[in-house]
Amino acid sequence: SAGVRLSLRLIPYSDELWLLVARDVTKVMRLEQMRRDFVANVSHELRTPLTVVHGYLDMLDPEEQPEWAPILEEMRRQSQRMTQLVEDLLTLSRLEAQDSLVDEDVSMGSMMVTLRREAEALSQRRHAITVDDGADIDLIGSTRELHSAFSNLVANAVRYTPAGGSISIALARSADGGAVLSVRDSGYGIPAAHLPRITERFYRVSTSRSRESGGTGLGLSIVKHILQLHQARLEIESEVGQGSTFSCHFGPERVHARERDVARLPV
Ligand code: ADP
Repeated sequence: SAGVRLSLRLIPYSDELWLLVARDVTKVMRLEQMRRDFVANVSHELRTPLTVVHGYLDMLDPEEQPEWAPILEEMRRQSQRMTQLVEDLLTLSRLEAQDSLVDEDVSMGSMMVTLRREAEALSQRRHAITVDDGADIDLIGSTRELHSAFSNLVANAVRYTPAGGSISIALARSADGGAVLSVRDSGYGIPAAHLPRITERFYRVSTSRSRESGGTGLGLSIVKHILQLHQARLEIESEVGQGSTFSCHFGPERVHARERDVARLPV
């Protein structure tokens, strides 16, 4: 009947028989929807008071009361963190509420330039950064969301790689005609036991290091959601003390040749 959601599964039983298992997931889905709405509402409600606090903090001049300067600095830092957290929660809610995104031409040439600039700004010359835009391809999807996903990976690479390390961002064609964007770092790495849960909300390997790093613990969940909306897959390879590689795998339907590439095709 209307409004009832079923989860269906077909299981092979014998050579000739299949089992159809139907499960009523109406309640589960309704609860999940309530959770999403709740998080979205709370985040939204937090926005205004945070803006006010931010505004007043900005008006205070540490020069007038020098002994307050470190306190003021810490309050600014924490309210900045809270604002980022609220923004990330709203981003997640927005992504969860969507089934699909716009399909536009995503210029990967300028994407790679932007990612390089962002990596350099975050790294402040503490890392060797290389960008390889060898593949003459563009993607099809949402420029804004893909940029958000890739720059999350780049920010993590910088955060979790000590000074003197290296970070490389590369775009390549894959064997099946798809494309792979990978972000590799020579940083701390992630113990294998943590990998299966690393994209969960607020999941962190080392709380103290991650807190200090300034992240919100939501970055990789956002990345995963954005990739899912592009039918793309996130692969993570990592070795403790050696570094990590985060690769985003896009299918052939998400790739198209750039103009100059097309021009080279025989007529
Ligand atoms: P955070 O805001 O804490 O960085 P993320 O969701 O982006 O949240 O990442 C979750 C956790 O995964 C991080 O806290 C960190 O422990 C680990 N992590 C993410 N990227 C890397 C990386 N490039 N190298 C090592 N650890 C990483």
